[in-house]
Amino acid sequence: MERATWPRMAVLLWMLHVTQAAIPRVAVIGAGISGGSAVHFLRNLLGDEVEIVVYEASDQPGGRTLTRTFANMTIDVGGTAIYSKNKYVSGFAKLFNLPPEDENSTNDVIGIWDGSKIRIELDTDSSWLAGAKALLRYGLSPLRIIPAVRETVKKFDRIYELQDQNRSFSSPTELLMALGLFNLTQVSAYDYFSQLGVGDLFTKELIDGASRCNYNQAGNVNSFTDLISLAGAGVAGHVFGLANGTQDISKGLVKVANRLRLNDRVTEIYDAESGYVVVSNGPAEPRKDHFDGVIVATPLEMAGIKLPAEAQQRAGHGREYQSTYVTFVHGQLNASYFSHDPMKIRKLPAALFTPEDSSSPFVSFSIHKVFADDSVVVKLFSRMELQDFDVKQIFVKVFEIFRWTWKAYPKLQPMSPENWASFRLDKRALLYTSGLETSASAMEVAAIAGRNGALLMKKALASRDEFHQVPLQSEIIGTI
Ligand SMILES: Cc1cc2nc3c(=O)[nH]c(=O)nc-3n(C[C@H](O)[C@H](O)[C@H](O)COP(=O)(O)OP(=O)(O)OC[C@H]3O[C@@H](n4cnc5c(N)ncnc54)[C@H](O)[C@@H]3O)c2cc1C
Repeated sequence: MERATWPRMAVLLWMLHVTQAAIPRVAVIGAGISGGSAVHFLRNLLGDEVEIVVYEASDQPGGRTLTRTFANMTIDVGGTAIYSKNKYVSGFAKLFNLPPEDENSTNDVIGIWDGSKIRIELDTDSSWLAGAKALLRYGLSPLRIIPAVRETVKKFDRIYELQDQNRSFSSPTELLMALGLFNLTQVSAYDYFSQLGVGDLFTKELIDGASRCNYNQAGNVNSFTDLISLAGAGVAGHVFGLANGTQDISKGLVKVANRLRLNDRVTEIYDAESGYVVVSNGPAEPRKDHFDGVIVATPLEMAGIKLPAEAQQRAGHGREYQSTYVTFVHGQLNASYFSHDPMKIRKLPAALFTPEDSSSPFVSFSIHKVFADDSVVVKLFSRMELQDFDVKQIFVKVFEIFRWTWKAYPKLQPMSPENWASFRLDKRALLYTSGLETSASAMEVAAIAGRNGALLMKKALASRDEFHQVPLQSEIIGTI
């Protein structure tokens, strides 16, 4: 190389170094749907002009989307049902070529099971809520909720338009107010439906039943969450599952991160002069790493992350999570347990809702598959662990059992606004997604919160006076 080219090389290297240093680094904590959505949308917004590092405490991405194999079939242990009008989650499934579940071998009947008998069976095939059977039992109540559900879905859908216009929100309450939905979070479903003139029987059987099935909680949850969960029940669209499970969505979303650190639990985030230091328990050793911005995409109640004092103040107060015990059983059902004709066991409703006063050990029951030998795979949710004794009553033969316990969703009762977490945990670039879950807990809600995190992050990074002019590697404290 000629001597004269040296200074030019040095200038080029220096320029490369400055360009490198100018690329902001963002940490996303949690590789569930909200973290994945934040990664996906941040990459869309900033292209290669951002370095994204995902920390995940577990050994794989997914969080509450968890897919397993059981009885030679795919089962979703957490988030399962996708509502057809949910643009993000159904869009991600299409983007990653994830096929929907085949029409399954089960019927479309819901039964209300009180622990000793099935009170009513309703075929959910067509507009069942407005059908003669429902009207005969519940009077006009079902007709009263339909317009309310449609109105809520219409308002909720505006979020897509707003986020497409790059509108971001500082807090969940601001987001819900912009959609005209916040007031619904401040009143319980019981009170809301009673104001609509919905009768007691309908509330106790179907509102409670659906609410218990979706959130393992009664209809004293906030009315917003119940209204949007009823949308999929044939009122405005339909729900579907994925043939290979929902966890593939989370896995697909985080692929566009620069680095995915599995088995790496974040224990602390603290302020640094030009950003944040993220402290974590890596698989081999504890480490500290520097970032310009951080998106916390996991409920802080369970995350065990120490935050700066100001951020802790903005992280919400008093939210608890509902424990949910999920039990999958492959076996042969005991028809007499359900007071059902053993010859017609295939006609047992594929979904059983239970009222709050039910004596049933499970809160919901759904048949996922019926095999040629009439054995079935059933998914049961309960508030306490289902004992072998309970399982043996429900099934005459048990071939296989799978159990999982979740801190599944927040207790979704109305919570006054001052206790809600913010999306912005400080005035800089420490952001949070899981505050939106105080209103409703679903994969789509997580995806919306993730996109909001990405939009806020873009703004926060742009408003910084300057990125630190030091090489990336020398800023890193510890190992990558
Ligand atoms: C049993 C059950 C059934 C459900 N059914 C449905 C349904 O049918 N339809 C629907 O739409 N929704 C459903 N949901 C809700 C839905 O699954 C969740 O709302 C959604 O998946 C939450 O995503 P998230 O990314 O916000 O949180 P999570 O999925 O909880 O992701 C958080 C991630 O952060 C990680 N993490 C936690 N702490 C740390 C730390 N300190 N450092 C690093 N990583 C950390 C966790 O390991 C986890 O992977 C269900 C949930 C459950 C539990």
